[in-house]
Amino acid sequence: MPEYPKSPLMGQMMSQPLLISSIIQHADRYFGANEIVSRRIEGDLHRYTYSECHQRSRRLANALATLGVGMGERVATLAWNGYRHMEAYYAVSGTGAVLHTINPRLHPDLIGYIANHAEDQYLLFDTCFLPLVEAVAPLAKTIKGYIALCAREHMPPDSKLPNLLCYEELLASNADDYRWPTFDENSASSLCYTSGTTGNPKGALYSHRSTVLHSLASVMPDTMNISGRDAVLPIVPMFHVNAWGLPYAVPLTGAKMVFPGPGLDGKSLYELFEQEQVTISAGVPTVWLGLLNHMDQNQLRFSSFKRTIIGGSACPPAMMKSLRHRYDVDVVHAWGMTEMSPLGTTGSLQTRHLSLPAEQQELLLQKQGHAIYGVDMKIVDDDGQELPWDGVTYGNLLVKGPWIVDSYFKNEGGDIMRDGWFPTGDVATIDADGYMQITDRSKDVIKSGGEWISSIELENIAMAHPAVQMAACIGIFHPKWDERPLLVVVRKPGMEVSSAELLKFFEGKIAKWWTPDDVAFVDALPIGATGKLLKNKLREQFKAYNLPTA
Ligand code: ADP
Repeated sequence: MPEYPKSPLMGQMMSQPLLISSIIQHADRYFGANEIVSRRIEGDLHRYTYSECHQRSRRLANALATLGVGMGERVATLAWNGYRHMEAYYAVSGTGAVLHTINPRLHPDLIGYIANHAEDQYLLFDTCFLPLVEAVAPLAKTIKGYIALCAREHMPPDSKLPNLLCYEELLASNADDYRWPTFDENSASSLCYTSGTTGNPKGALYSHRSTVLHSLASVMPDTMNISGRDAVLPIVPMFHVNAWGLPYAVPLTGAKMVFPGPGLDGKSLYELFEQEQVTISAGVPTVWLGLLNHMDQNQLRFSSFKRTIIGGSACPPAMMKSLRHRYDVDVVHAWGMTEMSPLGTTGSLQTRHLSLPAEQQELLLQKQGHAIYGVDMKIVDDDGQELPWDGVTYGNLLVKGPWIVDSYFKNEGGDIMRDGWFPTGDVATIDADGYMQITDRSKDVIKSGGEWISSIELENIAMAHPAVQMAACIGIFHPKWDERPLLVVVRKPGMEVSSAELLKFFEGKIAKWWTPDDVAFVDALPIGATGKLLKNKLREQFKAYNLPTA
């Protein structure tokens, strides 16, 4: 960490470290009676208050001390979004240990690798993941014990897991008189591994300071806009970049928290939205597809839901329009990365945009948006020269800020920075107003005749066709042009559309030479552990594809 010069006149303000424990303390003291509702793997709905959450987090903190978990040591979780997982968020980090959330959708070998790399000491898990945990246990060299997130009556019978403990018993046998320790705000608080689509996953290690600052920034009106009058349902899992920071941001405001547990299908989500009068939610586009399909098929409407944050991959404009105009739900398009805690940009209008025609406002909101305070960004060419903000020139997107990684955990990958900026691996344009638009991940751009074609733009157009459920565009080898776009499409159930019809749909919407050379229809697209399209898998699948030679 660099040392900065100090003014001889130091500010006459209290020096108080920004610690995660202060968030749950605040929620308890000022919003103690406000609710946290969780759909549990036991099948029922669990309800309690921020006060009870704080009390049980303190019990867990005492339990961790009894188990010998020390400052900086890693405690892992394999769990859905729920109140026990939230208690672990506060107890583990609050004691000075590091919460390592693991994605249960990863292969057991990869989880074994991650657990060893992180040197996890304990693993807390939802019992539905028992077979996975049992497969990981022989690989995980540092884990001393396993804690099943349940009561005694739901403990797995005959499990071979070494040192298996019952969460509710641990809590019952520890007092709630724990006092959160004070320590340096730059201490590590939690650890998330990137999904590792290329090579082994690398760890992004967050600090108390970075987490608290990110939470403060994310509740602002032009970011997630969360207030104490909201009910927030994070669909994005707590094992995917800390559910985009919502388990910290929501208690900060006192809003009601609604956890969906494993019920991420359209029907379960819709019921929870209505029953708990949810006002705000957040998730990747693929989960919204499921929810919107369910609502379309059953002609349903929301009675309380007013805003959703969509990110993780580009939100198709057709989905944005449907949510806005058909369901009266405002969509905030957000962009970020595991390495950025994750929030970098959000799309919102400023006063001067309000007089623009509606279509222009929509075009602006389809972009990934402007940097939120704390994040700075720029686009550069391959030589590192900064490119103009004209909304047309695209380049490599670099970012910096207090909640963006400086290096990966254990310095994996070495020095990753470029002159103090973090290279995101994304390709983007930035317009004169500072609104950024992702055109691609650099490894997904389609390079045709020395020019780049944006796969996201082609997918967005295809997704607006009424018969298209999902679309992905990849570059296929071409002897003359290097690569040409192939559109891979999943049709909506019961709908028919031909290649020719789909290709005609692109006419007038893009430069003619961007039009895909062909369309391949498939039953499903490969989706990764964080709900995103796996383009590397798709490229592999279509490696030998012969484009028509017209
Ligand atoms: P991974 O582990 O796959 O990197 P992240 O959640 O960290 O998971 O993914 C970050 C990447 O996701 C970004 O670099 C970008 O390519 C993509 N991404 C995130 N949000 C958006 C968005 N709104 N539009 C387009 N791409 C996005």
